[in-house]
Formats: sequence, C-alpha cells, structure tokens
Amino acid sequence: MIDLHIHTNNSDGSDSIIEVLKKAEKQKLSYISITDHESVNGYGQLRDINIKDYYSGKIIPGVELKNYYKDRVIDILAYNIDIDKFNNYLDKNYKQKTHRMLETKNLTCLYKQSKGYNLVLDPIESLDWDPDSDWGSVVFYNEVKKHPENEAKVPKDLWESFANFKKDYVYNRNNMFFLDKKDDYPSPKQTVEQVHLAGGVAFLAHVYEYKWVKDKIEYITELLKDSNLDGIECYYSNFTEEQTEGLLDYCKRNKLYISGGTDYHGTKRPSVDVGIGKGNLNIPENIIKDWYIK
Ligand SMILES: [Zn+2]
Repeated sequence: MIDLHIHTNNSDGSDSIIEVLKKAEKQKLSYISITDHESVNGYGQLRDINIKDYYSGKIIPGVELKNYYKDRVIDILAYNIDIDKFNNYLDKNYKQKTHRMLETKNLTCLYKQSKGYNLVLDPIESLDWDPDSDWGSVVFYNEVKKHPENEAKVPKDLWESFANFKKDYVYNRNNMFFLDKKDDYPSPKQTVEQVHLAGGVAFLAHVYEYKWVKDKIEYITELLKDSNLDGIECYYSNFTEEQTEGLLDYCKRNKLYISGGTDYHGTKRPSVDVGIGKGNLNIPENIIKDWYIK
C-alpha cells in the first residue's frame, strides 16, 4: 500500500513531517510522497533527521502545483523531481505570489469591476478581513450582502448564494465580475516543462474534484493535447471505484502513467487519513513501477 499525495504544515496540512512519517509507518506504507502546495521545504527538513527512526518505507520527492487552465485553477502533482532545482523554480515563480497578494488583488479587482452596478460598499481599507487566509471573492460578496439596498441592484441569482456568484460571475469570462487569473499561475504546459527539466514526471491531480468539468475524459484528452502530462492520479480519497476503474482504463489505452494518494491534510480534513483515505483506499504499490526511478 502506498500514498503519494500528503500535505504537511509546510503548506495547508496540520501535521509536521515527523508526524506524517509516524502515521505512514503505522499504516505500513511501502512508499509515500509529501506533496505540499508549491513547497518542497519538507524535503529540507527530512535532510536534518534520521528518517529510519520514524519510517521504514521509501519517500518519492513530490510537490503539488497550481495551474491556470480554461479560466480555472487546477492542480498538477510532480514526482521524482530534483528538489534543489525545483526549489529555485518555486522561489522565482510562486513565492512572491502569496495568498495575501493574490486575494488583495482579487478584492480590489471586484471593487473596480462592480462600478457599473453602483453598489453600496464600504471602502476596502475599512473592511475587517485577514488577507493571509480569507478569500477576496468571499469578502467582496459578504460586503455586497451587508447592504440590503444592493439587492435591487444585482441579478437575483447572484444575491441568492455565493456559490452562484462564484460559478456564474467570478468564473464567467463574459461577465463583468470575471477574475482573470492567467498572470497568477503558469499553464499546465509550462508546469510540465519545468517538471521535466527537473527530471520529474507530472500527473493531473484529482480530476473528479473539478466539478465544473462536465465530461472528465474529454477534458483530460484536451489537456493532454495541450500539455505534455505523463499521467493521471487514478486513486483518490473521494473517487468512487467506478471513477478509478475508468481512469485506469484510460491510462492503459493512452499509455499514461498512474499515481494515487489520499490528499491527507491532518486535522484540516479530518475525514481523510494517511494511506487509507476515508477508510478503504488501498493503493497498490505496482502502479509506480513504470515511472519511479530510484
Ligand atoms: Zn493536495
């Protein structure tokens, strides 16, 4: 049994590296990968400890990376990367683009873009929000709703729920509330190129989590034409058996590599545990034999 999708407190997980190693040992996992978001800091920490004191299996170097594709943000998992080379790339391309910077920009854009509606909004500077953890679109939406006089000024479905606002306005290129994030993240094509330059292989992460995609298989096929992805994450905590089988079959037919993991986040996602996901995930070790280079 293996788990190639694990987060620590180096990104948005709650466990330290050592806590993760202990849990992987308890589940008797033969291979794991720590895949923090846009961070390989965990691998620096691993150099400072004696791994065998905590975990007897093998660790595949990994990372999870945000990408902008068809007006949406999707994730790519990279494995086997040269950690030092990749750390340089992350420093240059992601480190300055902090949550604070991106969400402040999103909030400012939404304020500007809403001018046509003549909304009643308090000045941005007076808003009570935490740019390090809150989302600009949520803060904006709450501000719109705070003033009852705005109800008559915006479309009914927008007023009804944040979900509508996000899906049909913020992510709708034809709408004035559309937030274009193309300068915030690289494209899948660019990411895969960088992963290959660092000696790694790149996988599309958790495709069934992309609820806005109607036909997943068609989507993957288009994405493959566009980028040079090596494989697909076929095993995942939220996937049904049928979804996994479909993806495995697709990989087989298209000669793609296979990966799988729980997306463990510790107490930040308590329903998912290391190795077993929601209880019965059992990812076979042999899926890595095609692509794992020791
Ligand atoms: Zn993840």
